[in-house]
Amino acid sequence: MAEKILIVEDEHRIAQFIERGLLFEGYRVDVAHDGKNGLVIARDNPPDLVILDWMLPGMDGLEVCKRLRSASNVPILMLTAKDEVQDRVSGLDAGADDYLVKPFSFDELLARIRALFRRSTVTSKPEILRFGDMTLDTGTHRATRGSRAIDLTAKEYELLELFMRHPRQVLTRETIFDRVWNYDFGGESNIIEVYVRYLRQKTEAENEPRLLHTVRGVGYVLREE
Ligand code: CA
Repeated sequence: MAEKILIVEDEHRIAQFIERGLLFEGYRVDVAHDGKNGLVIARDNPPDLVILDWMLPGMDGLEVCKRLRSASNVPILMLTAKDEVQDRVSGLDAGADDYLVKPFSFDELLARIRALFRRSTVTSKPEILRFGDMTLDTGTHRATRGSRAIDLTAKEYELLELFMRHPRQVLTRETIFDRVWNYDFGGESNIIEVYVRYLRQKTEAENEPRLLHTVRGVGYVLREE
């Protein structure tokens, strides 16, 4: 069964952004909007990992972290708007396993989560994702189409990796936006269209058949013609 992740975050918009992304990845998710409730859920329904916001109303994240830690070894990833050494030190002293400074993109968060889950198992190995005649190396971030190597910028890579991990699945604009850009990026934007165009220019440079298709009014899908 999929791992269960508890999100303790009072900002509903951010909690929802994380929850949507994790559910999409197949994790089970519980959400608490304050520390007390988070502790109750953690006790009654133990999670495999906790994402814990630092600044919470009432009991703060640091105190929640200490209490969680006194009861279990569950991995704890703290979210903070603070990026100061002293805060990191006190969080680690309280038993947090890792940190993520706001604002972050969902993919950064997912990378940290995967790393925390891996710590208890084996060291991660880069993967080669394949779809049709396209490959994507998650270690070197290099793509190929047939025998042709394709250079990608960081954002183009993130976007292509998202599609390669979810082939033949229609990804909504909202999902793509959440996953590749962060929730602070702003409202109306044609950034996704722009990057899809870049990716198509690079992946269809020699008139290869299109793999990244537009689903009108919805989003995009990686599929064969
Ligand atoms: Ca908060």
